[in-house]
Amino acid sequence: MSIVLDGSPASEGIASGRVFLLDWGIPEVVHQTVQADDVPREVARFHEARDWAKGRLEEMKAATEARLGPVEARIFDPQLLMLDDPEVVEGTLRYIEENHLTAQRAFEWRMLELQARWSRTSHPMVLDRLNDLEDVVIRVLHHLLGHHDPSDLSGMNEGVILVAPNLTPSLIIQVDARHVAGIATDHGTRTAHWAMLARSMQIPTVVGVGSVSRRAREGDDAIVDGRIGRVVLDPDESDREVFRSRQERLLVWEEEVAVIAEMESTTLDGQTISLRANLDLPVEAEQARAHGAEGIGLFRTEFLVVGRNTMPGEEEQFQAYRQVAEAFPESAVYIRTFDLGGDKFPMFLNMPQEDNPFLGWRAIRVCLDRPDLFRTQLRALLRATAHGDVRIMLPLVNDVEEVRQVRELLAEEEDQLTRSGIPYNAGYKLGVMIETPAAALDAAELARHCDFFSIGTNDLVQYTLAVDRTNTRLAHLYNPFHPAVVRQLHQVARVSRAAGIEVSVCGEMASNPLGAFLLIGLDIGALSMAWPSLPEIKKVIRDVRMEDARQAARKALAAPTSADVTRCLVEGIGDSVDLKVFSGRWSLSVPR
Ligand code: PEP
Ligand code: MG
Repeated sequence: MSIVLDGSPASEGIASGRVFLLDWGIPEVVHQTVQADDVPREVARFHEARDWAKGRLEEMKAATEARLGPVEARIFDPQLLMLDDPEVVEGTLRYIEENHLTAQRAFEWRMLELQARWSRTSHPMVLDRLNDLEDVVIRVLHHLLGHHDPSDLSGMNEGVILVAPNLTPSLIIQVDARHVAGIATDHGTRTAHWAMLARSMQIPTVVGVGSVSRRAREGDDAIVDGRIGRVVLDPDESDREVFRSRQERLLVWEEEVAVIAEMESTTLDGQTISLRANLDLPVEAEQARAHGAEGIGLFRTEFLVVGRNTMPGEEEQFQAYRQVAEAFPESAVYIRTFDLGGDKFPMFLNMPQEDNPFLGWRAIRVCLDRPDLFRTQLRALLRATAHGDVRIMLPLVNDVEEVRQVRELLAEEEDQLTRSGIPYNAGYKLGVMIETPAAALDAAELARHCDFFSIGTNDLVQYTLAVDRTNTRLAHLYNPFHPAVVRQLHQVARVSRAAGIEVSVCGEMASNPLGAFLLIGLDIGALSMAWPSLPEIKKVIRDVRMEDARQAARKALAAPTSADVTRCLVEGIGDSVDLKVFSGRWSLSVPR
């Protein structure tokens, strides 16, 4: 009997092969102390292991640079920094010197402590950093224990499906894409560094499958479907048939994506809609471009700070912003200032424990309270405006006073740059995200102080409906088609038009075919979404008429319930688009 397991899609494509089980985990470390005389020896062993691990990481960084390029190679930087981090080094030395622990036990304890501190949240970015941390721990501990390098994959046959509890960047980089047809892991996130590398290497990957490494047996057949996030162990003939036909359809779709990427994003009756990409990491800019992004509608900058022990400097930030700006020399790039707090916290800020973090010290509130941190970012952003059409976007704004304060800080930083002879574009644009009912209702006032609006429906839905966006138990109540949301979208669109400023949507709703149909019907002329969704949404736009979208939006605005709103949209879109519901989400009938 075949076993079907669902996880999250992390790298597109579909593959079949024989299971190769990999146990890349933290080794058991016995609790042991040493005599006082032996403490210097343990200290020396710890430093030697650190130097060895740094050497290995540098080698891997160089190999990655040669194989995939300099941007991907920087993925190893956080781990290299970790090995020099005073929190790690001094904490471990303290356990050796004060408690006389062996180097391995002291290091393991210190890393467990740091891990516990970070794992207060389940935010994917923090999990990504924990994954980096684990990579370092596994490597150093095996070395201190005198083990053979467990990441040696030389015994692997061609065409295997690599199955593991989780992977790490240094492990994936040793994988030969000609040998590994697909990857399935129990844990992990789409934004984990190793998953990004798997995407660059074009290996179909499914993460977060739960128990795949326990249920799979070495040498058994398996299918990995990286588009829908499914793993089939021990497939039977009918599973294989599904696999073959999906593989054929996916190949056709992939060819279509390349063609769609080049096409205009224009409705049947000639209305052009700007389609932009949301980026979580600068390295994704190229994929966004290949999927037809016309600029970046939301560049989340939290990757620079979450899980780090120190604040990133102006130069590092500037380079990241500039990299994305230069990837889109002819289009606008909207860079959002740090959206910290909620479930994203950097270690160096000592975020307080709050009863309601989503209603707490978050986003623009943190930035305005910490001008030391914020000014550095504003300076880096201003400098990036000299390298493209960089626009500065503020998250979770409620009040014009917040915009006014940011303008003051910007004016001071501009002054400094001018005096130092550092170039920036004085005509840059500043706008806000509309993410709260307060901002939506007060949009007319905000519009007088902003150059653009971008509606963050992920948060707007959460705050309008009082439904935590991360609470899976409430997922059925988190509905972007609720009439209260639709009315706010309409209000913000109307106000922006009247004020003559641009309005776009950069929440998940824009990547939903029915959502996109509603938004364009409300005369929102720019949509931004995770780049894999761009071709699908462009197809929707090219297959509908603006007049039908407007009419459906008018009906949706008068609909009394969420179900009625959805019905108006389904009827409005009619047969022009072949819609399906997949995993509770509206989708096109492209292979999902
Ligand atoms: C949003 O809230 O819709 C948004 C795009 O921002 P984030 O998902 O990063 O909160
Ligand atoms: Mg938001």
